[in-house]
Amino acid sequence: MSKITRVLVTVYAALFAVVGLGFWAAPALLAQRFNVEGLGISGLSTIRADLGGLFLTLAGLCFVGVQTRRRSLLIAAALMLSAIVVGRLIGWATSGELAGLAGMLAIEIVGVAVLAAHVRTLKLWPDEAPPKFLKTLAAVAAVLLAIGGLVAIAGHTPAVQDRLFARASEAAIQRNNAALLKDDALRVALCGTSSPLPSPKRAKACVAVIAGGKMWIVDSGPESTENLMQWGIPLDRVAGVLITHFHSDHIGDLDELNLQTWVAGRPAQLAVYGGPGVEQVVAGFNAAYAQDETYRTAHHTAALLPPATATMVGHPVAMPATGPRTAVVHDDGQLKITAIETNHAPVAPAYAYRFEYKGRSVVVTGDTTTDPRLIAGSRGADILFSEALNRDMVRTMERTARAAGRDRIAHIMADIQSYHIAPDEAADVANKAGVKLLVLYHLIPSPDNFMARRIFTRGLDGARRGEWDLAEDGSLYTLPVGSRDFRIGRVQPVMRLP
Ligand SMILES: [Zn+2]
Ligand SMILES: [Zn+2]
Repeated sequence: MSKITRVLVTVYAALFAVVGLGFWAAPALLAQRFNVEGLGISGLSTIRADLGGLFLTLAGLCFVGVQTRRRSLLIAAALMLSAIVVGRLIGWATSGELAGLAGMLAIEIVGVAVLAAHVRTLKLWPDEAPPKFLKTLAAVAAVLLAIGGLVAIAGHTPAVQDRLFARASEAAIQRNNAALLKDDALRVALCGTSSPLPSPKRAKACVAVIAGGKMWIVDSGPESTENLMQWGIPLDRVAGVLITHFHSDHIGDLDELNLQTWVAGRPAQLAVYGGPGVEQVVAGFNAAYAQDETYRTAHHTAALLPPATATMVGHPVAMPATGPRTAVVHDDGQLKITAIETNHAPVAPAYAYRFEYKGRSVVVTGDTTTDPRLIAGSRGADILFSEALNRDMVRTMERTARAAGRDRIAHIMADIQSYHIAPDEAADVANKAGVKLLVLYHLIPSPDNFMARRIFTRGLDGARRGEWDLAEDGSLYTLPVGSRDFRIGRVQPVMRLP
């Protein structure tokens, strides 16, 4: 018997060693085999180091334990494998899927059994007397296995599932981020930070400026309303939308924003400001969604969803014929919003917006090249939120697309370089305008991992005199009233139902 179990433990040791060395040598390949996703350099490093270390440790314990007949080493291997079995059971309970896990679960349970069987054959304890804590360890292992089993069974019990769903939904409905609407600060939350190039982590252009208990949305890029909904800020407090220009990545979610603010109980029509032409954009969305709105009113009653507030109303903001190319959009004595003409040719009109609230101020650029009007309009602002295109990265994408025969993409990559601002050019604008903090958003391409972020911001420390930050969806900037400070944080999503 002991010979058989000895051979089996050695086979397990060899198996663990092969897998461990595989993770060290080819982490991406092994990760694929084990259905693991390594995100960027740091993700692959985690897979190589953590999983490689785990399997090689298991191999070492099994092999040295068999060779030296040390039961403590084999017990340690069995405990590690038991913990892995518990994790596997929890995975089964939470995903409800056993199909993809059954094979590995079987190998691990058999491994624990083989190790336990071999330990039992080792009557002698050559190196030391049996430690007293052995029973405790065995009890801990048994308890862990029992917990894993119970969690797995509970996860498959309808009553437990219903109870957990009810509790999660209760928690989600009670928590909200209404505190962000307090009038003690000017706050800016990034509801979208990417550009037309797709990113799984970022919605397209959207900046929420919160002041005086109201929220103003600069641009409504595709997917951005979903961010706003997950934040749990009462959407009936959206005072208006300011469109920088009419490219699709800046207007694509207008209909969804209008619908969701209407459903949330917005008291008046949604006001949409922008350059001349905004009426056409708004009329088009209103026409496209007219039927949807009649269905919803018919289904939920006009008292809940009144037709009078269902549609958006466009407010064209024209630049004055003479003088500086700026126009006041809103001024209630506390919050002043000014449109600043910028250069995104051949796209026109193209505006940036400046917000001034109780002594604090921010500017949101929209799409633009370096422009003296932007520098003048940003003068003395606390924060400049600037779009940014990394020319080196886009040139590389253009070259690789051309080499791969993807001429349409190469053509577009070549064209877009002319009408956006690069990170170092945005730094120059911020320096010249005396801005305290430069925040880059509307990022082309989206730097979604550590290495891409390094490349994207390379040289920025040298170009920028002052602070800068690279925004993500959910980045939150707080400018307290009566202070010169700013705080950088994150909006915590609260409406995530299970
Ligand atoms: Zn854009
Ligand atoms: Zn654009």
